[in-house]
Amino acid sequence: MLHKPKKKMKIVKSEYWTCGCDEHYHKTKKVAQKCIEKQESPKRVRPSENDYKIRNLSIARMVLGGSTYSYTGEQFSLTNERIRGILFKILRQVSHSQFNPKPNLKTCCSATLSNVRQNNEYWLGQIDKLAAYWEIK
Ligand SMILES: [Zn+2]
Repeated sequence: MLHKPKKKMKIVKSEYWTCGCDEHYHKTKKVAQKCIEKQESPKRVRPSENDYKIRNLSIARMVLGGSTYSYTGEQFSLTNERIRGILFKILRQVSHSQFNPKPNLKTCCSATLSNVRQNNEYWLGQIDKLAAYWEIK
């Protein structure tokens, strides 16, 4: 006698770890724990353009005030080369005709830090003008 087909049902038990999110099925407790930590950690906020301006002005003032690139770099977690780049970027910005009606001073592009420091007061004054223009104290 031949067998006839029969319909059957198999229930599969599935274990998983939950992080509290219904769409997540985590294989291990460790992964679920990490997911929870990730959900709870505050989102990193990207600094605004204004934050960078404030930072760059502080860097330029520090270096012109006598701090070395490496000391300044440590304070801002930046490399010496970045500090140098930021200083000269600020010097270029303050050399703009808007801030410098008599551009007879040796412009910064070819200047060295010691050249720039010889005109410290001038540059710091220019930086104050730029800060005022940016409406930064
Ligand atoms: Zn999760």
